[in-house]
Amino acid sequence: MAREIPINLYRNFGIMAHIDAGKTTTTERILYYTGKNHKMGETHDGSATMDWMAQEQERGITITSAATTTSWKSRDGVQHRFNIIDTPGHVDFTIEVERSLRVLDGAVALLDANAGVEPQTETVWRQADKYEVPRLIFVNKMDKIGADFFRCVEMIGTRLGARGIPVQIPVGAETEFKGVVDLIEMNALIWHNEELGAQWDVVEIPADLKEKAEKLREQLVEAAVEMDDAAMEAYLEGEMPNNDTLRRLLRKGVLETKFFLVYAGSAFKNKGVQPLLDGVIDFLPAPTDIPAIKGIDAKTEEPIERHSDDNEPLSMLAFKVANDPHMGTLTFCRIYSGHLEAGMQLENTVKGKRERVGRMFQMHSNSREQITEAFAGDIVAIVGLKDTTTGDTLCPTNSQVILERMVFPDPVIDISVEPKSKADQEKMGLALNRLAAEDPSFRIKTDEESGQTIISGMGELHLDIIVDRMRREFKVEANIGQPQVAYRETITKKTEKDYTHKKQSGGSGQFARIKIVVEPGEPGTGLEFVNAIVGGAVPKEYIPGVQ
Ligand code: GDP
Repeated sequence: MAREIPINLYRNFGIMAHIDAGKTTTTERILYYTGKNHKMGETHDGSATMDWMAQEQERGITITSAATTTSWKSRDGVQHRFNIIDTPGHVDFTIEVERSLRVLDGAVALLDANAGVEPQTETVWRQADKYEVPRLIFVNKMDKIGADFFRCVEMIGTRLGARGIPVQIPVGAETEFKGVVDLIEMNALIWHNEELGAQWDVVEIPADLKEKAEKLREQLVEAAVEMDDAAMEAYLEGEMPNNDTLRRLLRKGVLETKFFLVYAGSAFKNKGVQPLLDGVIDFLPAPTDIPAIKGIDAKTEEPIERHSDDNEPLSMLAFKVANDPHMGTLTFCRIYSGHLEAGMQLENTVKGKRERVGRMFQMHSNSREQITEAFAGDIVAIVGLKDTTTGDTLCPTNSQVILERMVFPDPVIDISVEPKSKADQEKMGLALNRLAAEDPSFRIKTDEESGQTIISGMGELHLDIIVDRMRREFKVEANIGQPQVAYRETITKKTEKDYTHKKQSGGSGQFARIKIVVEPGEPGTGLEFVNAIVGGAVPKEYIPGVQ
């Protein structure tokens, strides 16, 4: 067995943001600069490489939590491996964010320099807090009218309750945005132009920014020395840490989520992305920096820990099941410990099922690389798993562990789907089961009263996408509507008013499906009473309890 890159040179990270903050653009630039992406498309015109499902491209949102493997050289020329785990920005997909956060080790949080901290930024930030994910913050869109870096830094404090510490400050803003001051090296990076792949010059800090830069460097150094008693003492005696020490201490602070380093740039204008990538190497964790993953022995239920070590027994977590038009079902797994080979027999300890690993792939931005083995820290896409769904643990049959489960909130919105023909009905059953296996936040049920198939999800967009996929991938024709919900009402004299109101707003068609439960013993609540309220002849069988 041979590992290409030592595990301490891995960075498994995600990019999280409010929708429209520039996640797709930034990801594209990252993929371009890290060298694997040869074709570059503007976002939302159908060629964005990270959004690789057709409808994502159409809608211009990112749904699939695809993981993309690429690499970047550190400032001293050492090749690092990046696994970029995609986290969707739309509020309906917080569940996807949640499962991504479960398997990534660090994240870059994007802010729109003009909009600052937005509602969805807060949502994903809180989710990341829950998993104690070390984060860098990239204030994107510095070229946009109204861009205000320091307002963003302030909002990180007021809105996120987090300590954001600039490690750069912008040179210029809006149309005058030219580059950044590096507060560690104390120089300025000025990009030549706005072309893709643009180079920059390293120059002296512009005179008008010197004082500000010095003040902020002091803040940076103070935050760093707080991380180490000896460094603090030396600092108090007037000794400045050198830049390597400064980076090492800042790294410690970031890993312990004591503070969040803030970068500035404009992905769209190709400024600031490369230094951010250096920051990912300098400050975000390697798999070996994060605590051991916890689990239980599948047989004895004794607690077990698995470390990022190739020599420990294999343990991995499935975090995404995707239906690929060419390859069938792809199961994305994060390997926490041990060594995986194609063809292995594994145990799915959550389902209690044997699984055989077929072919394995590492996904690059626009290609798939077939691999035969993978190691702790890797993210692989596996073909051939039959029963594994998101959140399941896979491990060797002789060393069975169940890793920490992911928790999925209950869906919040329902719609009804009625197949147009008998043939559609059969296809629909298959399609819905398949989609539910991919997505634990999507549920299917049959309504007892109406016999309708009801699907539930995290929001309208979520269900729209399910329906769209059902049509597109499974060729199911169905009518979509509001469920004819069987309201279980308890009618009393007291609730009569509400009920009358519901009648007025609901329309008469629904009443046949309203299940009325009359509270026993309530005077005057016989059939006549009920019919008086709903204004018609409600069949007796709909009104249990009524004589
Ligand atoms: P996502 O929804 O977070 O993936 O955001 P996108 O990357 O799709 O960007 C949303 C919009 O903002 C698109 O129109 C982008 O062209 C634009 N955009 C992204 N980055 C920048 C930037 O740095 N500056 C400006 N002015 N616009 C940007």
